[in-house]
Amino acid sequence: MSGSAEDYAEIREEVAKLCATFPGEYWQKLERENTYPAEFVAALTEAGYLAALIPEEYGGSGLPLSAAAAILEEIQCAGCNGGACHAQMYIMGTILRHGSEAQKQKYLPEIAAGRLRLQAFGVTEPGSGTDTTSIKTFAIRDGDHYVINGQKIWTSRAEHSDLMLLLARTTSKDEVAKRTDGLSVFIVDMQEARKAGMTIRPIRTMMNHSTTEVFFDNVRIPAENLIGEEGKGFRYILSGMNAERILIAAECVGDAKWFIKKSSAYARERVVFGRPIGQNQGVQFPIARAYAQMKAADLLVRDACRRYEEGENCGEEANIAKLMAADASWAAAEACVQTHGGFAFAEEYDVERKFRETRLYQVAPISTNLILSYIAEHVLGMPRSY
Ligand SMILES: Cc1cc2nc3c(=O)[nH]c(=O)nc-3n(C[C@H](O)[C@H](O)[C@H](O)COP(=O)(O)OP(=O)(O)OC[C@H]3O[C@@H](n4cnc5c(N)ncnc54)[C@H](O)[C@@H]3O)c2cc1C
Repeated sequence: MSGSAEDYAEIREEVAKLCATFPGEYWQKLERENTYPAEFVAALTEAGYLAALIPEEYGGSGLPLSAAAAILEEIQCAGCNGGACHAQMYIMGTILRHGSEAQKQKYLPEIAAGRLRLQAFGVTEPGSGTDTTSIKTFAIRDGDHYVINGQKIWTSRAEHSDLMLLLARTTSKDEVAKRTDGLSVFIVDMQEARKAGMTIRPIRTMMNHSTTEVFFDNVRIPAENLIGEEGKGFRYILSGMNAERILIAAECVGDAKWFIKKSSAYARERVVFGRPIGQNQGVQFPIARAYAQMKAADLLVRDACRRYEEGENCGEEANIAKLMAADASWAAAEACVQTHGGFAFAEEYDVERKFRETRLYQVAPISTNLILSYIAEHVLGMPRSY
């Protein structure tokens, strides 16, 4: 790592200190009890980290994306799980860029102060999956309200959020010129919606991720909760996706660092056949290769951040950073398991937990195949495959 100012050495140090108070045992206990890391999220909120990207005029710290990337990377590198709260960092950008001044005044200071949590992002549906423009959840205008019907799946943190950013159709797909038209974004007040037809059903997953299914049954929300223009929502969501990809990539770099640190330490200490296992090249090489992959991914994340912050179109860089960082963290996870042998499978080493957690990033928020399709089509000019 360089020691430049953009490295946010002080922030990193402070985040690492905070994370040290949430050791492996904390995360293991949460998993056993299938509960949300409320204390961890509260500590990050109180320290202002989850408001890093909110401009100062709305009570945040107004830091650039690279600072948010540094925060999330450090969280993962310390063995914690930013998945419990990372969405707030990138969802908020949709309100910031496309919300009205009244919406910004109403929500951003409350989010910055930690009085409102904006952690839920309702895009994916069971019937459409990756094909976002085929979502069926529908919002119909009725006077000064919209009435919402439909179902979301994999809406993470829905039970631990006050607000949800919801993508719904406002015009059906067969009535619009372009399939990306006719989609709209809403801010849903979760408490109000729960009293008025919204139900949340948790989904148990292979890691502790507090993800859910959310059902909307004639849920009325005020029309003033529409973000931007009706029908333009897909564009608003898309414009936040580069930030999302970059931040998830930073988390993967952090995960890779954790696995590499853990496996090289174990390889130095574990003695079998009268010598440290790390003396065997068969043990060294996968760790060394994962390190090289992590370093390359780290540079890609930094490049993507720089372009994003300079207002350039960074779709290519953000997608590639996510792809390579997720590959690096998965290679490091695999090397870590192999290095630890049987002990990798014991809960107390934390390796199996992090292994399960980092696997997600090959699939969500965008799967590896879809990034490859993006590169093939948008960078290399090959025909669209779907
Ligand atoms: C733990 C977890 C948390 C999540 N959190 C959220 C959240 O908070 N909010 C939210 O909206 N969503 C969330 N998601 C959803 C996530 O974004 C989707 O799972 C992901 O986008 C893939 O969609 P899918 O699962 O429906 O897979 P599908 O679309 O059914 O795809 C299945 C497989 O087929 C491949 N595939 C599909 N089409 C093509 C194609 N044309 N070319 C090549 N390969 C293809 C995919 O790459 C994938 O590997 C979460 C998912 C998980 C598992």
